[in-house]
Amino acid sequence: MIAVVGAGAAGLVAAIEAARAGARVVLFERMVDGGRKILISGGGRCNVLPTALEPRRFVTASSPHLLRRLLTSWPLEGQRAFFESDLRIPLALEPETGKLFPVSNRAREVRDGLVAAAKGSGVEFRTRSSVVDLAPADPGWRLRFADGSEVDAARVVLATGGESVPQTGSDGTGLAIVRRLGVPTHPTYPALTPLLEEPASHADLAGISLIVTISARIAAAPTPGTGGQLQRQVTGGFLFTHRGFSGPAVLDVSDLAARAGRGLGPRPNLLVRWAPERDGNEWNQALQRQSRRRVATLVREALPDRLADRLLTQAGIDLDTDLAQLPRPARLRLVESLVRYRLPWTGDEGFRKAEVTGGGVALDAVDPATLECRSRPGLHLCGEILDAFGPIGGHNFAWAWATGRLAGRGAAAPGA
Ligand SMILES: Cc1cc2nc3c(=O)[nH]c(=O)nc-3n(C[C@H](O)[C@H](O)[C@H](O)COP(=O)(O)OP(=O)(O)OC[C@H]3O[C@@H](n4cnc5c(N)ncnc54)[C@H](O)[C@@H]3O)c2cc1C
Repeated sequence: MIAVVGAGAAGLVAAIEAARAGARVVLFERMVDGGRKILISGGGRCNVLPTALEPRRFVTASSPHLLRRLLTSWPLEGQRAFFESDLRIPLALEPETGKLFPVSNRAREVRDGLVAAAKGSGVEFRTRSSVVDLAPADPGWRLRFADGSEVDAARVVLATGGESVPQTGSDGTGLAIVRRLGVPTHPTYPALTPLLEEPASHADLAGISLIVTISARIAAAPTPGTGGQLQRQVTGGFLFTHRGFSGPAVLDVSDLAARAGRGLGPRPNLLVRWAPERDGNEWNQALQRQSRRRVATLVREALPDRLADRLLTQAGIDLDTDLAQLPRPARLRLVESLVRYRLPWTGDEGFRKAEVTGGGVALDAVDPATLECRSRPGLHLCGEILDAFGPIGGHNFAWAWATGRLAGRGAAAPGA
């Protein structure tokens, strides 16, 4: 018997693949049902996949080459066909974001479709079964449960996820188990999580959203005039919240802040260009016109009014000032805050709100063909427990589906 632990995105696919390969599969899940994260994903719509796999945008402390190999092991067309043809869940492209959602816009359809496919393939579900430990048995593995019971399995696929949003069931137990077994891991940290500002000096702007470019620069080694060496640059949605900053662009750099906050990396300067299409030269030219137009009117053309007014006030410019009256130092201060606004983040929302977990099991600790642990034969690992995460946009499910398939097939392979 193959025991799959965790009925999340990766575990469900692993169970389906192992059962379809002919194995007897029992899926153990600690919650009353599985796939809670699928249900809350994409704002309840489930962004099942991106339109392109982009291994370069993934983050890992392990080998990027290995990451690419695992992610692309199931080409996107195959992943899409699995949902559309096999599970009969048609997907639709959201053109403005490049994300694929179920046509129904219901995450439940995805979760229920996966569960039905697993049951239809012969997978036996045992919910409310919380695995607290794994021990090598001869042969195979012995699973210990929270109620004290034990079950033996020839092979185990551990798909227990990471530490993010623990109320969905993934609280890091799986990671603690593999660490006890001596499997090499990288330190974990929240990723794709909103940032905090304390005190919340931008709370009056809460609710304003716009498209921005954020440059994350390493503050430790500043290059004069730039704010430091460029670590990452993203363009996307930005949202002011009552507690700080969110939106896809903020989430996509939040891991750098989260790592810094936990002593795992340098503190990044997050520099915001509020109107991505305009650089400093263009702003300077526009603001130098000898016109009786108001500075505020010009800036409000490119930015939401309240944000525009805030930037002017911060630059010491009266909202009634004409372009012709704008002193050079004030203009330079304004341009700087329009194209390189230093986001005053002080922390992050942590695992409570993180969409994924950074760090986890080192990718070179598993055989890339089967995801079997090199030091622990018969133990396969997949999904978020592994040391990789991608940006917003369906990339993290792509990782879960692809690695779940590898682990399920690997565990069921003849001779495995
Ligand atoms: C709010 C939110 C929105 C998201 N939206 C998207 C999106 O739209 N698109 C996208 O690509 N990604 C999205 N993600 C990320 C995505 O949900 C995860 O990357 C993905 O679910 C990880 O899959 P997994 O199977 O590895 O882990 P999980 O989905 O976390 O599944 C792990 C499962 O294991 C179970 N489990 C844990 N420990 C035990 C144990 N000891 N014993 C038994 N069972 C156990 C858990 O209960 C859970 O069911 C989102 C995440 C969040 C939090």
